[in-house]
Amino acid sequence: MTDSNLPRLAFIGLGVMGREMARHLVTVGYRVRVFDISSDAVGALADQGAIASESVAEAVADAEIAVSMLPNTPQVEEVVYRNGVLDHMPSEGIFIDMSTISPEATRVMAVSLSEKSISMLDGPVSGGPIGAKNAALSIMVGGDRFAFERAETVLNVMGNTVTHVGAPGAGQTVKLCNQLVCAVNIQAVCEALALGRASGVDLDQMRDVLLGGSASSWMLEKLGPAMIAGDASAGFRIDLMLKDLRLVLEMAGQNDVPLPATSLVTSQYVEARAHGEGSNGNQALFRVYDRMTGQNVARPKIGAAQS
Ligand code: NAD
Repeated sequence: MTDSNLPRLAFIGLGVMGREMARHLVTVGYRVRVFDISSDAVGALADQGAIASESVAEAVADAEIAVSMLPNTPQVEEVVYRNGVLDHMPSEGIFIDMSTISPEATRVMAVSLSEKSISMLDGPVSGGPIGAKNAALSIMVGGDRFAFERAETVLNVMGNTVTHVGAPGAGQTVKLCNQLVCAVNIQAVCEALALGRASGVDLDQMRDVLLGGSASSWMLEKLGPAMIAGDASAGFRIDLMLKDLRLVLEMAGQNDVPLPATSLVTSQYVEARAHGEGSNGNQALFRVYDRMTGQNVARPKIGAAQS
């Protein structure tokens, strides 16, 4: 049931993440006009109470707050510059881009939108599809503090940790630093598992031991079992992480910061994607080691009974 006291919303980009986030907004009573280039995605949200739009321009035309959740920088720029946000969103509105995109492009868009009296916030997220489904995302927000305070209630519907981290682009900067740490850590887990496997130790036991000490990490805990089992199917996709790592390296180049570990792990992701792993979860990075070491099954374990 729509609550007319709440701000009118638009939501653009109803993929794996966006459809869950938009659904929560509808559920708590916001009137949400939705658009995606996939009419099936729009139809599915309309079935849940959103209002279907046939274009970005139509979706944002009377929106007080518009949210985008799109693949990458070019899609956000298209939606802002060419498809309607800049030319059709009412002045005094707030445009929140929650995709993971370039901080530099974000700053440029924020300036262009401010010339039309539209505030832009960058609010990328961490927590993946499960966080989106459970409204438990961590949202890091860059942009004008006053606009953040006006939009905070809406953001709180989608996430449980919502933090203003600074000026336009700061949310994307923090998100890309987050991705750097995740990717380098996944690489470390892959290397340890590959070495342990080649040496014949019990990988499940090794993981348990590492989780009890200073080598413990979210990646080892959450992705380790799937790596060991060779299950590459679900989770944050290899091609999305590769996209994020390229954004990290672009930002590093702009700031003259050498990132040797990030450069190395980016090559591993390129290798994974070249072998058809782009749609697999990040645990598929371990399959690079299957190929590099010629192993894809555990060797007989040291001390294990030999038949
Ligand atoms: P997705 O590919 O599942 O969804 C993107 C949606 O945008 C699709 O439905 C697509 O049809 C739509 N789209 C593309 N171009 C469009 C356009 N010009 N106009 C309107 N709609 C358009 O991607 P996702 O997994 O939902 O990720 C979205 C963003 O969130 C990405 O930047 C990603 O890096 C980030 N992110 C994803 C995850 C994750 O686990 N999937 C986690 C954190 C952050």
